[in-house]
This record gives sequence, C-alpha cells and structure tokens, in this order.
Amino acid sequence: MKWLERLYVFLACALLAGVALFSYHYELERVRPLIAAELAPWNVPNWIIKTEADVPAPDLAEPPEEVLVAPTSSIRVPVLMYHRVRVPLASDTASQKLLTVTPATFEKQMQSLADGGFVPITPDDLLYAMMTSTARLPSKPVLLTFDDGYKDDFTNVLPVLERLKFQGTFYIVPAATRFGGFMSPDMITQAAQSGYVTIGSHTMHHSDLRYLSEDDRLAEIRDSRTLLQIWSGQPVDSFAYPYGFYNDAVIRDVESVGYDLAFRTGAGADHTSSTRFKLPRIQINQDTDVVKTVQRYLK
Ligand SMILES: [Zn+2]
Repeated sequence: MKWLERLYVFLACALLAGVALFSYHYELERVRPLIAAELAPWNVPNWIIKTEADVPAPDLAEPPEEVLVAPTSSIRVPVLMYHRVRVPLASDTASQKLLTVTPATFEKQMQSLADGGFVPITPDDLLYAMMTSTARLPSKPVLLTFDDGYKDDFTNVLPVLERLKFQGTFYIVPAATRFGGFMSPDMITQAAQSGYVTIGSHTMHHSDLRYLSEDDRLAEIRDSRTLLQIWSGQPVDSFAYPYGFYNDAVIRDVESVGYDLAFRTGAGADHTSSTRFKLPRIQINQDTDVVKTVQRYLK
C-alpha cells in the first residue's frame, strides 16, 4: 500500500472514530437529564428540600437539658421487637416467616400483656427512667417496637394499640415509603397523630451503617430524622440500627445528630445511661408466649 493510500485509510478511520465519539457524547447529553429526572426523587437532599417546601417544619423544642443528669443504677424494661404483623404469604422465606406474627396472634399477645397488667412505655419514658428517675415508670413496664415501617403497622398494629391504649414505637425507613407494602408519609402522620405511636428512625435506606463513607453514614442518620420529624410532627429522638449493626463511628454520629437512644438486636432488658446507644431488644415471633418471656426478663 502506498503512503497516500495509508493516509486515506487513516483519515477514514479517524473520521469514523470522530463521528462515533460525537454521537456518544450527543447521546449522553440527551440522556443525562432524563436519568437525572428519574433519579431525582431518590436524591435525598433534593427530595428533602422539596418536601420541606411543601410542609412547614414543626416547632420541635429539644427536651430541657436538666433531664439528662448522671444515672445512679440500671433499670429493667423488656423491649419487644416486631417486624411484620400479617398473614404470611406462601412465597415468604423461612427468615421472613420468623419475623412475622399473624394479626390474630399479635392481638392475643397484646391482650395477654394488658391482662397481665403490663404497661407499654415510650422511648422518652425509658430515657427519663434511665437518666433521671424511675418514679414515673409503671410497675410492669414494656416497650413495643416495630421495625421497617410496613403497612401492617398502620392496618394491623395501630388499631390494636388504640383499642388497648398501648404506646408503640415505629422505626421507619423514609425511602421505603415510596414502595407499596410500606406506610406512606400520610399514614405516618396519622399514626403519630393517634397519640399511641412514637416515630423513630431506621435510617434513610435501611443501610448497614458500618460500611458507608463518613458523609453517607451521617446523611442516612441525619436526613431520616429531618424527614420523619416533618412527617410525624414529633421530635424523632430514638433510632434503631438496621440489621442491629453498629460500631463506634455509627454511635458517635447517632449521638451527634441528636438522638437520645438507639436500639440494637440481641436479647436483654437491663439498661443504663452508658448503654443507651446499644439498647437490647427481645425478638417476638409467632410462637412466643409474650407474658412468660417478659416475666423472665423482669425477674
Ligand atoms: Zn430493619
């Protein structure tokens, strides 16, 4: 091949490459805003700003500082942990079934607590008892927690709490409210307004906080609180670690963002001020005799 032919071939190839590159960038520029629009609702800061514009932020005064004084001893309050309260589906996995209690069983479990003289308290009550005085604690306290914010909490749990005048705490994942099967922001507002539900955070996206960057970890902890306070109109001062996983950096961020308490998994019922960011909970399932279980921890 003569040098002139080689030059032609080279120029032709260069031209083709140029056209391909141009088309690629043109396509990228065309598609980029479409992708951004698609992702916008999931972009946490934008989403929060938009929601804040729609809903005026409530005036949420922090509890007075004097509540948080040095503790003298540990207190004993069984904290019960529920996930799903619904009739299990045939497609549920074994671990899903383990975390599921049917509505009928849930109602029986709650009724047995009422009949046994147990009184569910709020995370605020627990904090006050741990940090200041047990004088306000009922003689048989329990704390009822429900993780993940399933729609079950609204349809199957809330009516039972209202009927028995029981306090429950729902740990919500704000990003999940966009999916069917989870409570919507409106349901969260209604649950909070019932007077029987305290709203707590379970991170923005149900993330394993141990493996996030410092910025992402803080955003998960902080932005979920901001959003849940707007939706619930309550101070959101308690937290539940997704999967029960945490480390020192996670605890530091949870405390610095302003939470007073954080729950993990793992049984136990003794709490002190020094364990208030590692509070144990007792998992309840379909076969649990709740009164017997609670009594065992109260001994
Ligand atoms: Zn969870």
